[in-house]
Amino acid sequence: MNARRIVLPLIIFALSLSAHSQEKLSVKWEELTASDFVRGIELAHNTCALPIGILEKHGPHMPIGTDLLNVRYATVAGAQKEYVVVFPEYYFGQIFEARHEPGTIAYSLELQLKLLQETVNEMARNGCKKIVIVNGHGGNESLLPLFAQSQLAFPHDFAVFVYGLPKLDVPGRPAQRDHNDMHAGASETSHMMVSHPDLLRMDRTKQESGADQDHLKLPDSLYTGIWWYAKFPDHFAGDPSTASKELGAFDMNTWANSLADAFRAVKADQDTIRLQNEFFEKTKNPLATKQ
Ligand SMILES: [Zn+2]
Repeated sequence: MNARRIVLPLIIFALSLSAHSQEKLSVKWEELTASDFVRGIELAHNTCALPIGILEKHGPHMPIGTDLLNVRYATVAGAQKEYVVVFPEYYFGQIFEARHEPGTIAYSLELQLKLLQETVNEMARNGCKKIVIVNGHGGNESLLPLFAQSQLAFPHDFAVFVYGLPKLDVPGRPAQRDHNDMHAGASETSHMMVSHPDLLRMDRTKQESGADQDHLKLPDSLYTGIWWYAKFPDHFAGDPSTASKELGAFDMNTWANSLADAFRAVKADQDTIRLQNEFFEKTKNPLATKQ
């Protein structure tokens, strides 16, 4: 028997074994065994995703967990394209503006920041040296950049990245007819048609109005916390009757691909942690920093 006859089948066997073992590795932290978790962190190049949502009313027709259900669906799909380990369900962000609605869980700002800090600290202790917080909820858009910025307050051996609400308005997107599409409107409803269609109650969409009620007359240059309630007191913004599964599938695909690109970039990135280390070293003695 010549050597080629033996070596080739061996190579094919080895390749199929490694492909098989990679296929079998779940992206979900809670589904991995302890030994598979170690392999997962290695395969992820120490990169983990933390999808963050909220518990809040979503119009008359969508579940309270909508934002997390949708962002986890997109994150898991993105991680399956570019392997990272995805942290379990995390519902704890900023949602003071919906405290008047049933089912809202709004922890104090101190606890939101502390819980998030301890969560990323524990993730990092378990090998997640690059953590991508993937946001699914509008009210977290102010919290998360603040949190990421606060990571410079003291030295870390890990980096936090924020992937904010996705930019879904890309070429080829089905035409939009909902022009007030911010909360439980056509987009989110379409996404739910793909992620968890069984949880939608489309027969209830007309029970409340998602129109802008515009109760404050102030210049745009002023920000005040009650702005959202002034516009949408029923915590509903948009017209879900124009939702479609076609739009949902298009957006979820855009979202997952964009997340996979972000995961790939973070996995390849060597500069963030190097620059952080250089920065932290200098913070020990600012007077020695070259002027
Ligand atoms: Zn939402």
